[in-house]
Amino acid sequence: MNNDITVTKSTLPEYNDYIDEIADLWESRWISNNGEKCKKLELALCRYLDCKNMVLFNNGHSALESVINAFELNGEIITTPFTFISTTHAIVRNGIKPIFCDIKKDDFTIDTDLIEEKITKKTSAILPVHVYGNICEIEKIERIAKKHNIKVIYDAAHALGNKYHGKDVSGLGDATMYSFHATKVFNTIEGGAIVSDEPEIIRKLKCLQNFGFNKNGCVEFVGFNAKMNEFQAAMGICNLKNLHNDIIERKEQYNLYKEILGDIPGIHFPKNNPEVNYNYSYMPILFDGFKKNRNEIIEELNKQRIFPRKYFFPLTKDEKCYSGKFYDFTPVAKQVAEQILTMPLYKGLEKKDIHNICSIILK
Ligand SMILES: *Cc1c(COP(=O)(O)O)cnc(C)c1O
Repeated sequence: MNNDITVTKSTLPEYNDYIDEIADLWESRWISNNGEKCKKLELALCRYLDCKNMVLFNNGHSALESVINAFELNGEIITTPFTFISTTHAIVRNGIKPIFCDIKKDDFTIDTDLIEEKITKKTSAILPVHVYGNICEIEKIERIAKKHNIKVIYDAAHALGNKYHGKDVSGLGDATMYSFHATKVFNTIEGGAIVSDEPEIIRKLKCLQNFGFNKNGCVEFVGFNAKMNEFQAAMGICNLKNLHNDIIERKEQYNLYKEILGDIPGIHFPKNNPEVNYNYSYMPILFDGFKKNRNEIIEELNKQRIFPRKYFFPLTKDEKCYSGKFYDFTPVAKQVAEQILTMPLYKGLEKKDIHNICSIILK
């Protein structure tokens, strides 16, 4: 058995729960193209998020690429470079120029004071990220978007089930993207979804994910293939039943890290917003002014077979494929990327392991 402690381990249901859930697929022999499992998962997720309209996808990235396409966005989209590479790729692969806005040091979301100066005649949307489940300054983003008549699409890959002022974040902006990748707080092995209140966008997304076929079997759009399959949906149905308890367990782990390291000079946790119900999807810690720097800490932990990750380093705009292409100045994001470390947090991680990780850091 491998005893390595990694940044995450995929959440799996009880083996027999999954087997029970997939058994009837051997009877129906309908394993893709919006079968019973996808319909069941969609209903359950809509209930969980308290939303009406959702389109399931084979992964979060194709969902994000598709929704940009569905809104017919063009020109420029304002976003942040402190995110997973998918956010930037989804913009660029739509033939749109990403304009990188800096982030706030306290919760790593987009710095809304800097958005307006980046708006030009070409700006078609803002694509902010609820990074680590920290909710962006949504009121301000909404005000800016209204004023300039541009769209807002949220990358909520980290924020499934998060609530702001008691309301689920899926209702924010013109559309919200989720990822159900194996490493996320809720997974369908691979998977994703878009939530939007715009019926025409929902209709278009359903066509786009199936080669552009509309309800009448006519190819109305230049679509691609991004459908969730029935085995993915079955995994989601099983995992969703346990999600509430999984989040409680993660919260305990998160709070234990905070209890041990929270008052140590030079160790910083993201600002807690009392209006947000978190899903505790990640355990990011910022080392700024601590006796050891981020890289020295990783080295020490790796020696003990503990593998935190430098999420998100480098910034997306500094990855090889984008080097020399974008010159937006984002000094806060640059500094955070060099100081951040995402610590192990997953179902089944033991308290003694967290104590051990923290004592290695403190030593
Ligand atoms: C995981 C992730 C995605 C992409 O989702 P996939 O399901 O892996 O395709 C997009 N944005 C962010 C911020 C992510 O963390």
